Amino acid sequence: MRHLMPMILLTGLSGCLAYDYGTAVPYHRHTEPAFAVAVPANAPPIAQQFRPPAERGAPGHMGLDVATTKGTPVLAAAPGVVTQSFSEPAYGNRVIIEHGKDSSGLRIQTLYFHLDTRLVSEGQRVARGQQIGTLGETGLLSSYPHLHFEYHRETARGARIRSGKNWWQGIEQRDPNAYWVNGPGRVTCYTGQSAPADKITYPVACR
Ligand SMILES: [Zn+2]
Repeated sequence: MRHLMPMILLTGLSGCLAYDYGTAVPYHRHTEPAFAVAVPANAPPIAQQFRPPAERGAPGHMGLDVATTKGTPVLAAAPGVVTQSFSEPAYGNRVIIEHGKDSSGLRIQTLYFHLDTRLVSEGQRVARGQQIGTLGETGLLSSYPHLHFEYHRETARGARIRSGKNWWQGIEQRDPNAYWVNGPGRVTCYTGQSAPADKITYPVACR
């Protein structure tokens, strides 16, 4: 633990300092597909992109990190029902929202880690763009204020339901950049628009 800390801290700082509103870090060079990501000038930066697990067991990064000031509103990326809202040591305050099915009948859910505060409870229905918490750095796996955001799709019809409360079973973690309301790679701030529930708006408030 003692030896890991400086490395974790440096990673966090580079994510914070190098990118400002309206920017995104490049994809890891071996990540395919890699989207051309356009971030609106008023949107907090993407400090880490999705990266599938490499062969030979290297861990991936199964979502997006959005880095900005602690306390910034975190928003539901699409309408749905809160299926999990709790705190645990590793990822801190977390919320999971189930959004129903996409056009091929596969259930979709989104996940929000490291929240400073949670403003929703399990079973609660939320609208697109509704505030569900505030951005933070809770949990041992966070070393600077950011939201770790994931987009999950069922591996087969009904797989998610059969897995019960186990959020990681019956799903695959997909690159969120594929599912923005305005199209792949086109980060879409929430501005009151409506869209299909499997298409997402930015999970952090834009300016
Ligand atoms: Zn992350």
